[in-house]
Amino acid sequence: MEIIRTVEWMKQSSRTAEAAGRVIGFVPTMGALHEGHLSLIRAAKQQCSPVAVSIFVNPKQFGVGEDFEKYPRAFEADRAQLENLGVDYLFAPDAPAIYPPEFRSAVRVEGLSEKWEGRARPGHFQGVTTIVLKLFEIVRPRFAYFGRKDAQQARIIRQMVSDLNLDCEIVVCPIVHEADGLAMSSRNAYLSAAERRAATILHRALAAMRGEIERGARACAPLLETFRAAIASEPLAKLDYVEIVDADSFEPLQFLRNDCLVLVAARFGATRLIDNMLVRILPKDGERREECIISL
Ligand code: AMP
Repeated sequence: MEIIRTVEWMKQSSRTAEAAGRVIGFVPTMGALHEGHLSLIRAAKQQCSPVAVSIFVNPKQFGVGEDFEKYPRAFEADRAQLENLGVDYLFAPDAPAIYPPEFRSAVRVEGLSEKWEGRARPGHFQGVTTIVLKLFEIVRPRFAYFGRKDAQQARIIRQMVSDLNLDCEIVVCPIVHEADGLAMSSRNAYLSAAERRAATILHRALAAMRGEIERGARACAPLLETFRAAIASEPLAKLDYVEIVDADSFEPLQFLRNDCLVLVAARFGATRLIDNMLVRILPKDGERREECIISL
């Protein structure tokens, strides 16, 4: 595995691979790698060669007072895991290489970037789209892999790729959970033992909602009411929002239909966690009850 620190070197490596007709796969990360990240890299390895992974804790996607300084950094452990997986390029630039003092540009996907996570974290998605477009231009991937854990981020990046005619296909991979259901996240490391136990309420409440939907519930308001009550039963959890939205527009729904996402964000002490559930309602010909496929 080549460890690449400069934009020029990364560009040269990717241009050489591209010229040789190779299919570049890319997984952007902020490091502190866990199984969620590794699942994206395995998916990339199945489809692409070479595979590039970036580790860059992007200051522009952290708001004032957020956790940029204390965000976990574990370069040596990350490097070893990537080496084991057979990653070809580890692109790990430092901040001035990406944002020199004269840097002045930004990329913003209007509308989608202002709601839900965007409302809770102003400027966050503009920071994400700006870095992802830069990384795409440096790495020139044919396929780039993102987790559904950050469902709104994946939707916004798809929109950017479409709007700007980028030659990159976005692959969205399933959420990887801990054994007790908590969605894996680098931020889980911030949780105290009690908060860590409490945080499983997100997954338990989503799983309970899945049961209700499988039993035929379709109206969103009562589903959300039950969900809020479940979170309220956990004293260490403070719900930020829960909403059922159309998976394309991210607008709230009154009734489940087609592809929907249940989005949730909550705080456990100082740590803010997000999770979601994908609900696909498929009309079935000639039968009264439609089919539903639910992915936690
Ligand atoms: P991050 O390092 O948090 O910026 O995440 C890098 C990529 O890993 C993003 O596409 C995330 O959506 C994805 N990711 C993070 N956690 C998970 C998870 N538990 N399951 C699947 N993908 C994940």
